[in-house]
Amino acid sequence: MATWEQRWHPLREEWVIVAAHRQHRPWTGGTVAAPAPARPAYDPGCYLCPGNARVGGARNPSYDGTFVFDNDHPCVGAAAPGTPPTPPPPYRVAPGAGQARVVCFSPRHDLTRAEMPPAAIGAVVDVWRRETRDLGARPGIKQVLCFENKGEVVGVSNPHPHGQIYATDFVWKTMEIELAAAARHRAETGRGLMDDVIRAEQHGGGPRVLHEDEDVIAFVPYFARYAYEVYVVPKRRVPHVFALDDREAEALARALSAVTIRFDNLWRTSFPYVMVLHQAPFDAGAGRDAGAGRDAGADTFHFFIAFHPPLRQPHLVKYLAGPEIGGGNFLSDTSPEASAAELKALPATHHGAQ
Ligand SMILES: [Zn+2]
Repeated sequence: MATWEQRWHPLREEWVIVAAHRQHRPWTGGTVAAPAPARPAYDPGCYLCPGNARVGGARNPSYDGTFVFDNDHPCVGAAAPGTPPTPPPPYRVAPGAGQARVVCFSPRHDLTRAEMPPAAIGAVVDVWRRETRDLGARPGIKQVLCFENKGEVVGVSNPHPHGQIYATDFVWKTMEIELAAAARHRAETGRGLMDDVIRAEQHGGGPRVLHEDEDVIAFVPYFARYAYEVYVVPKRRVPHVFALDDREAEALARALSAVTIRFDNLWRTSFPYVMVLHQAPFDAGAGRDAGAGRDAGADTFHFFIAFHPPLRQPHLVKYLAGPEIGGGNFLSDTSPEASAAELKALPATHHGAQ
């Protein structure tokens, strides 16, 4: 399927160049990803496994579900030096304040999220709900960023299933852009931007929709920047994950399971990705202690989860280069419709259990 066009990314208000006519023929199974070596359920050398010692001396409890702890090497945290030297304008500086946490998804060292039952993924969703609510209510915190970096190709060498949470006193650029776009769309049309995106994805039989039920929809967006980019979106607009009701949270866990199983089945490997929860900022107020926990995007921001897989083929990384790093817009070599068709054709059961 040759696609050669520019597609508007409505959440970022920017163009994505889709040049799928340049793509080598689609992967047909001629090359196979190297099979992952069998891993033990428990690794005595893993700093995330239950009961093991971490750097700095802390010891993990013998947890049997999820486990959350403060990052031993935080990039933001209370230990950051207080007042850095003031640089000349236009430069600005601030202390590296905030909170960084690690979330172990499972005590099992050998599982990927795709291999966890939906109930166990639901426990991870519950951690995100609890941590976002608690950290977001802290004085001065403007945003809680929950994410998972998975796979060596995105720099994670420890296969133990885990994610991270950063609570910061600034708003991350992506959500700032999305908040502005949603507010503009609301002002111009009176409608929710993500509501319109969902309707557009359902149009014509939903050619890019991978999973849908009453509460949640998952799709390769029309404007995907990565070959197998997938959005998982609750249909009811809530600004934060903790505003989902229990039924919606369970539906979210089922959708995350369905998507990650298809990812792993694509090349019968542990599929790498960067996964991010897009949540509204918190209005920390003018003073660092004023208005903490108030929602800064309550009337417009639509919480969703995005998967950004770095690979276009089993051994072919999507490198960010001149267009992306230099120009700031993405060039995609794959058609979102073709990627979605590939994922849709895969079994809904994990290849390890087939
Ligand atoms: Zn482990």
